[in-house]
Amino acid sequence: MVEPDDQQVEVLRAVCDTFVPSVEHVPDPYGFWARSATDMGVDSGILQALAGLPDEDAVGLLALIDAIHAQGFLEASQASREQVLRTMTLSSTQAAAGLNALKALTLAGFYAGVDPETGQNPNWQVFGYPGPSGAPAERPNRLPTVDPSSAGDLESDVVVIGSGAGGGVIAGELAKQGLSVVVLEAGGQYDERDFNGSELWAYQNLYWRGGPNPTADGNISLMAGRCLGGGTVVNWTNSLRTPPWVREEWAGEYGLKDVADDFDRHLDAVWSRLSVNDRCSELNIAQQKMQAGAQALGWQFEHTNRNADASLFDPATAGHMGFGDRSGSKQSTTATYLRDAVEAGARLVVRCRVERVVTEDGRAAGVEGTVTDPQTGSATPVKVRAGTVVVAGGALESPSILLRSGLGGAAVGRYLRLHPCTATLGLYDEDTQAWWGAPHAGVIEEFGPLNDGYGFLIEGAQYTTAVASNSVPWVTGEQHKATMADFSHGASFIGLVRDQGHGTVTIDDSGNSVVRYSLSDPRDQASTHRAIDAQVRCHAAAGAARVAVLANTFPLWHRGEDDLDAFVAKAQRIPLRVGAMSLFSAHQMGTCRMGKDPETSVADPYGQLHDTPGVWIGDGSAFPTPSGVNPMITIMALAHRTAEHIAQEG
Ligand SMILES: Cc1cc2nc3c(=O)[nH]c(=O)nc-3n(C[C@H](O)[C@H](O)[C@H](O)COP(=O)(O)OP(=O)(O)OC[C@H]3O[C@@H](n4cnc5c(N)ncnc54)[C@H](O)[C@@H]3O)c2cc1C
Repeated sequence: MVEPDDQQVEVLRAVCDTFVPSVEHVPDPYGFWARSATDMGVDSGILQALAGLPDEDAVGLLALIDAIHAQGFLEASQASREQVLRTMTLSSTQAAAGLNALKALTLAGFYAGVDPETGQNPNWQVFGYPGPSGAPAERPNRLPTVDPSSAGDLESDVVVIGSGAGGGVIAGELAKQGLSVVVLEAGGQYDERDFNGSELWAYQNLYWRGGPNPTADGNISLMAGRCLGGGTVVNWTNSLRTPPWVREEWAGEYGLKDVADDFDRHLDAVWSRLSVNDRCSELNIAQQKMQAGAQALGWQFEHTNRNADASLFDPATAGHMGFGDRSGSKQSTTATYLRDAVEAGARLVVRCRVERVVTEDGRAAGVEGTVTDPQTGSATPVKVRAGTVVVAGGALESPSILLRSGLGGAAVGRYLRLHPCTATLGLYDEDTQAWWGAPHAGVIEEFGPLNDGYGFLIEGAQYTTAVASNSVPWVTGEQHKATMADFSHGASFIGLVRDQGHGTVTIDDSGNSVVRYSLSDPRDQASTHRAIDAQVRCHAAAGAARVAVLANTFPLWHRGEDDLDAFVAKAQRIPLRVGAMSLFSAHQMGTCRMGKDPETSVADPYGQLHDTPGVWIGDGSAFPTPSGVNPMITIMALAHRTAEHIAQEG
């Protein structure tokens, strides 16, 4: 293990306190302005994280700290230190990645770290944020899982890799039809008893790579689930049906012929099993602003349907649903399809990472992986013999499973679609309490059909202190604190683009996914610019006093002072890449896509690999092109259709 020396620790502490300095401010009733990052012990958390890094990464980070020291950092003033950090961020991609990681950890620790006794963070008082609320709901039984010690060699008709939106549906449907099913899930099982409402706990336990994670080129911050239930445990339960133009495109251009006119029954089936309804979609103040802005501009705004149990739904806890839903109302796959699967005899193995798919005579024969015992940390090899293998690890991991297995052909990992999002923050005169209520209870659909169906949606987002502090641009320590002090008056909108360009997922020497995405397709850039325009105008029409575009230069429009058209034009000139515009994605799709042509698709129009009978794609990676709407319902309906074809083949 690589350990920092005393001087490196001192420089690290100074870096933390440059990102979050002690600032003189009157009044300061809660000590927020005076409190620095190290006053909160953020440096200890970062040193712990450093100790857990692979040696190579730790050496790289310490070299960066040495390089910062060489700039005379310890002797410099706050203003000079800020200049050093800004300049070094521009000096190289590696330096930018290292400094961004340090900044992210510092801000997350300062704004989302909680006292384990009270569950509170002292900085929340300045914005009146109450923190997690509500007691965890009673949940009668956790799903039974296979004991790691007896997981070694298993046999089944079907093995499903991944238990999220797609994998969960296929496991449930096939088990109900009498097939023996084993589900292997890389993450652990957590439920209402574990969900404590803490953002950092959730990232560490429920999310892919520990929470928001940049693509390898740094351009886009990715979020995905990694636990039993996958994304359905952490998502915001907005349930949108596949638009007609997407279905027609998949049928006409990619060979999924029945999807044009015979897909409703699959959508209806998952709709019903998830108890999707319109009774849990109260608009919080932030989304009331979105509705008011849309109405003032004559745009179509809709309340969304959601997969929530109305009898358990509690809007006060719904604002934290991305950290696991304490109320028990979320109809994730753990509450629905995986439960059906277990009741029909399926076996679940958690903390089991599948390494590769095994073939015999050119067709599926099973999988190999490793199960980790959470108590001892020991890893045991697992083999499952099965004639049908369903790959459903999500679009960031499914291609890596195929690449490690040498299956799927030339298109594996190509065609990564992300629904890239820009974000804007409106600052209003009143307290918006934007952490109350479901994050996605309304949507502006006006621009979805633009450009032959390659338009954009405007939606809300979960209002969280760690993500907000990392999304708010950091120009200086004082500016960042001042913006965060206004947190209680904010409302965030996102502009979600149906992308035509695409990124890639490849694997590194250790076989881990490497994700790259550049928002460089001119059509996507034009849609993104339109989405920025629409978000800004919507905030302004809703009465925002100030509007910020989340970009490094932090452009800010002030009502009564700045020209709106000029501001929009300025925001649209910001490059759509790392170091300039902040871009986000919680929707990953297309990396093992279905289609007719084995050169440009991985699976046939029913989901079975072109090159390997018995291996099926069962998740969002199977989309030929992006769904253009939040994808959970489309993934599940497509998986429902794939399950039908697997059963027919069997
Ligand atoms: C914060 C957030 C909010 C969202 N909100 C919404 C919303 O409101 N509405 C909506 O429609 N969509 C939403 N989404 C998107 C939606 O949840 C995802 O698109 C969907 O869950 C993806 O389904 P999937 O089956 O492709 O993969 P996932 O649901 O991600 O499941 C994949 C599973 O496979 C496991 N896995 C990966 N690799 C391996 C391996 N090698 N071995 C074993 N297991 C493996 C993972 O741990 C994971 O649990 C949201 C997503 C996020 C992150």
